[in-house]
Amino acid sequence: MVYFENVEKRYPDGTLAVDGLNLEVESGEFVVLIGPSGCGKTTSLKMINRLEECTGGKIYVNGKDIMTLNPVKLRRQIGYVIQERGLMPHHTVAENIATVPLLLGWPKKKIDARVDELLDMAGLPKEKYKYRLPAQMSGGQQQRIGVLRALASDPEVVLMDEPFGALDPISRDNLQNELLTIHKKLKKTIIFVTHDISEALKLADRIVLMRRGKIEQIGTPDELINNPATKFVEEFIGSDQ
Ligand code: ATP
Repeated sequence: MVYFENVEKRYPDGTLAVDGLNLEVESGEFVVLIGPSGCGKTTSLKMINRLEECTGGKIYVNGKDIMTLNPVKLRRQIGYVIQERGLMPHHTVAENIATVPLLLGWPKKKIDARVDELLDMAGLPKEKYKYRLPAQMSGGQQQRIGVLRALASDPEVVLMDEPFGALDPISRDNLQNELLTIHKKLKKTIIFVTHDISEALKLADRIVLMRRGKIEQIGTPDELINNPATKFVEEFIGSDQ
C-alpha cells in the first residue's frame, strides 16, 4: 500500500510541483497518474522512492513513513522503470535483470533461476537473449528488460514513469498487454505515469488526473468518462474520444 498524506513538493527555485496530494493506493492496485505536462506526475512518483524528498506531508509505503527508512534500502524494495536508457549498456541482459537481487545478496543459483523465469514470462527465449547487450536488442525488447529488472526481486510496489513512451504504437500495445497479464498474475501494486489518455484508460484500475500539482479527480476509467467532476476532466478525457 502507498499512502500520500497532504504531500507537498517545492523545489529550491520556488516551483510548487505538488500541492497537497492525498492518495491511497491499495495493495495490488494499478493506479495511473495522468495530466498535462508539468502537473507534477514524475515528482509525485519520485517522492515514493525518495529520488526527490517531499517538503511537506508524509508518504507511507506498506504502513511505514518513508522518511524513517534508509533511502537505499527503500529503493531496493520498490521496482522502478523509466522511459529509456534505463539499462546498463555494458552489462548483459541477465546482469541487468539481476541488479537488485545481486545487491540483496541472493545466491547465484537463485538469481540465475529467477532471470530464466522472468525471460520466459516475457516471451524472450533465454538461449537467444540472456547474454546479449542492450544495444543488441530493439527498443521494445529493452523496455521489456527494464520491466523484468524492476520485478526481479519480487517487490510489492513498482513505479513506472512513461515506460512505453518512446515506442512505436504496435510495440507499445504489445507491452501494455504484457504488463496487464503480469499484473493479473503477480498482483503487484503499480503506480504508472503517462500523459497518454488511451494508455491510462486501458491499464488503470483507477486514474488520478492531476492539474497544477493537485488532484482534479480520482476514479475508475468508467467514472472519469461517464462522470467527469469538472470541465477540465471532461475535456482531458474527451481528447481521446
Ligand atoms: P511531464 O508530463 O512534462 O513529464 P510532469 O507532470 O511529470 O510533467 P514534473 O516533472 O513532476 O511534471 O514537474 C512538475 C513541475 O516541477 C514543473 O513545473 C517542472 O518544471 C518543475 N520541476 C521538475 N523538476 C524540477 C527541478 N529539479 N527543479 C525545479 N523545478 C522542477
